[in-house]
Amino acid sequence: MKRISPVVNIGTVQIGGGLPPVLQSMTSTDTRDVKKTVAEIQALHTAGAEIVRLAIPDEAAAEAAVKICQQVDPVPVVGDFHFGGAEILKAVPKCAEALAKFRINPGNSTDKHFTDFLKRAKKLKKPVRIGVNAGSVSPEILADSRSLVQAVLRTVELSVLTANSLNFPADQLVLSAKLSSVPETIAVYRSLAQNFPYALHLGLTEAGSGLSGEIASTTAMGTLLAEGIGETFRISLTPKPGKSRTREVDVGKQILQALELRNFAPRIISCPGCGRTQSDQFQRLADEISGRVEKAFPRWQKKFPGVETLKIAVMGCVVNGPGEARSADIGLSLPGGGEASAIVFVRGKKVADLTGENLTGEFWEILETFVAEHFSK
Ligand code: SF4
Repeated sequence: MKRISPVVNIGTVQIGGGLPPVLQSMTSTDTRDVKKTVAEIQALHTAGAEIVRLAIPDEAAAEAAVKICQQVDPVPVVGDFHFGGAEILKAVPKCAEALAKFRINPGNSTDKHFTDFLKRAKKLKKPVRIGVNAGSVSPEILADSRSLVQAVLRTVELSVLTANSLNFPADQLVLSAKLSSVPETIAVYRSLAQNFPYALHLGLTEAGSGLSGEIASTTAMGTLLAEGIGETFRISLTPKPGKSRTREVDVGKQILQALELRNFAPRIISCPGCGRTQSDQFQRLADEISGRVEKAFPRWQKKFPGVETLKIAVMGCVVNGPGEARSADIGLSLPGGGEASAIVFVRGKKVADLTGENLTGEFWEILETFVAEHFSK
């Protein structure tokens, strides 16, 4: 049974309460550079990040955050505080008001700082993520623990005890505990989900870059989300030099879509092809349909609500092709030999036998008609 946490309001976005997981990202710009930070938040939001976090290391960044929040409104902006967060919030009250949520790392705060920070957030009715990170667990807790996982969990437990001693509202509390190991991350979040009734922010910290970072993040987040654990999450990838940070948002969306927790774009189901496909027509067809769908999607989205749930199958031969094509909203299967013809199914019914040079074009026409008929406002 899915675990249900309290609903937490983060500006215009809600997490928890059984809602589908919400995707977050974080800026990499110097927060004091308002223009660049606004541009990055807008790019991340356009890519699909529903909440964006920025670092607030000092008062100058806090002053800048006030302007940033105004300029990106209504995107919820989270302030990331380490060390003297309570003092910064006190010195720049407008920043505290403007931010949708605060994040504090107890490992980088004295007990007094941490308590003052929670008191201030409670007074302002702002949600707080207590974000423990394996890299900043106190050496004393580490020395007293059997493992890093145990030290991280103990740090969360002590932080929650502090929050409870202040009667910090459950619907303003979010927990995270990030490690860089996939098995340890999974173990920690399973334990958090079992032992704490609060919204959880998932993350694999320092996941790395490129394919290995994406696979590590997908394995950790995918496992937990599939178990119903996690109200919100961020994919932490090191961008390639000069490349956009929005890649991490794309990966997060793909995880949610693959788990069928959220839909962001039509899904193309295509088989890998094998020795039964006697030419590369199948690969060209799958590639062309994917490209056309990607291009048409922004246009479809404006006119055809719900089109992101569309499932299209492009299959290589009669072994699995007709079955998959029947199960999709619209599907096509090549014969697997000769490959100058294809059968087309719409919602399980065979609607056409296509042959000849313009097979792709004819399939596309059927697809466009299907979209217009089934997803009209
Ligand atoms: S559907 Fe046919 S072509 Fe595609 S992988 Fe299966 S057997 Fe091979």
